[in-house]
Amino acid sequence: MKFNTKVLHGSYRAEFHAGSTLAPVAQVSAFEQSSAEQMEKVFSNQAPGFAYSRLQNPTVLAFERQIAELEEGVAAVACASGMAAVSMALLNILQAGDEIIATSRLYGGTLSLFHDLEKFGIKTRFASRGEPESCKPLITEKTKLVFTEVISNPGLDVADVEGLAELAHANGIPLIVDNTTATPVLFHPLRHGADVAIHSSSKYINGHGSAISGVIVDGGNFLWDGERWPALKDFCGIPKLAYLSRLRNDIWQHFGPCLAPQNAFLNILGLETIGLRVERECSNALALANALSQLRGIHAVNYPGLETSGSYSRTRLFTGGKAGAILTFRAGSKERAFQIVNHLKYASIVSNIGDVRTLVVHPASSLFIHSGKEERERAGVYDDLIRVSVGIEDIEDLIQDFTEAIEKADQ
Ligand SMILES: *Cc1c(COP(=O)(O)O)cnc(C)c1O
Repeated sequence: MKFNTKVLHGSYRAEFHAGSTLAPVAQVSAFEQSSAEQMEKVFSNQAPGFAYSRLQNPTVLAFERQIAELEEGVAAVACASGMAAVSMALLNILQAGDEIIATSRLYGGTLSLFHDLEKFGIKTRFASRGEPESCKPLITEKTKLVFTEVISNPGLDVADVEGLAELAHANGIPLIVDNTTATPVLFHPLRHGADVAIHSSSKYINGHGSAISGVIVDGGNFLWDGERWPALKDFCGIPKLAYLSRLRNDIWQHFGPCLAPQNAFLNILGLETIGLRVERECSNALALANALSQLRGIHAVNYPGLETSGSYSRTRLFTGGKAGAILTFRAGSKERAFQIVNHLKYASIVSNIGDVRTLVVHPASSLFIHSGKEERERAGVYDDLIRVSVGIEDIEDLIQDFTEAIEKADQ
């Protein structure tokens, strides 16, 4: 099955009961058992079944199965938000004294999380860009993982996933990637050497801005060593599921960031059209990036699908050579950036991405408001930067909207 057929006809559908075409919403906290013995079996993983929705829920499981299948992993765990997914994916294998190597220009929330982790004795070393060569000198005895975003948000650097995986594996550590902005339509990180893939499914997977959620997918290929990752020691008996079993049966259960069944349903519904949406959003983004590049007073249009982008050659690994649906440009000053944003008619001022609607944001005064100047600059967040998450509107209307807003800003 190819991707779009798999979205609709994948084996995850076996989770749906009684011929339902969509996963029924099991909107309950807990599940009744037929006997005390049965309850014991379910709790001790001796029998399949559901006990409590923080641990497992049929609607959430259907979503997890679907994402695992689409991302070509062995299993997935859904979380209450993308940030919960990033936190859990890292904390599952880290302890005080460990170090992370991360590429730069990452999502602001993830940078803030790295700061928080310092208070727990976990240090992050940042590579100057996303290149394996700049990560290499940072690896020490304490390094336990390499982290990157496939297309960084809002830096829009496309990571060399294969190169980073090679470097990580040569040093006996895993590569964990955030694939939110590239989407499972364009790129399969696990196929290209990553060990764990994360999504903020609040974005393209949901697609309609109707629910916050995240998901962690385990590729099952990394050979975990119980000495080096003591937390996984008890789970190494089934090597292919060591990472995910520890996550599901241990830290994720105990921290408690489970996904609500209704939100899992909204994701399943949204996923049905992910192929169509992303294809359209990418072609709109390329056309808008080209149009903006022609406009006077607009600088540094950044879109990985433009030949002028340093990341252009890496987009060849993406399905159809498509380059995602996010672009940024510089307006010259913060004031002019605000004016342009305020004059837009169709593009809404929203801090989200991955919606069917076109969304704009001034990252320096919103997503990165708590970051210092140095951190902002390292992330490529300049004072005059505008980020656009391109939607599925008619491209003529979008180009006209931006052209007119820029004209009005200069009157
Ligand atoms: C939005 C986003 C997150 C965080 O996801 P939430 O669902 O908002 O918690 C993480 N990584 C990237 C790349 C994102 O765009």
